[in-house]
Amino acid sequence: MLSPVPDADGAPFWRYAAEGELRVQTCADCAEPRFPPRPCCPHCQSFAAEWRRTSGRGRIWSYVVPHPPLLPEYAAQAPYNVILVELTEAPRIRLIGNLVTAPGAPLNSLPHDHIRIGARVRVVFDGNGLPQWVLERP
Ligand SMILES: [Zn+2]
Repeated sequence: MLSPVPDADGAPFWRYAAEGELRVQTCADCAEPRFPPRPCCPHCQSFAAEWRRTSGRGRIWSYVVPHPPLLPEYAAQAPYNVILVELTEAPRIRLIGNLVTAPGAPLNSLPHDHIRIGARVRVVFDGNGLPQWVLERP
């Protein structure tokens, strides 16, 4: 399994994820959430930021089912899904992840015909603090 390699701006995201929280970097001046994490607000150019906890809920905005050639770590699990989640509290932010049947389940645990654009999902975390997604109504 590949592991995240956090940079200084993204480290808090992974630290909160390891604690089971999905947080989004948010401008402390204009309150605009932003992703990926970066030092400066693209809205108001402020460098003041905070990490706001989200409900961990959203909708599938889009998805793909990657096919080979893939990185060796992923090829063994193909075909699997990669979804783009629009967060409920921050619809302009879309997070990439995998839709699985339960926390820590294999990337290919959910049949592809169960995936629908617009379906409600919620975040779960595997044993290593990696955010994954499950359907609200499987
Ligand atoms: Zn701002």
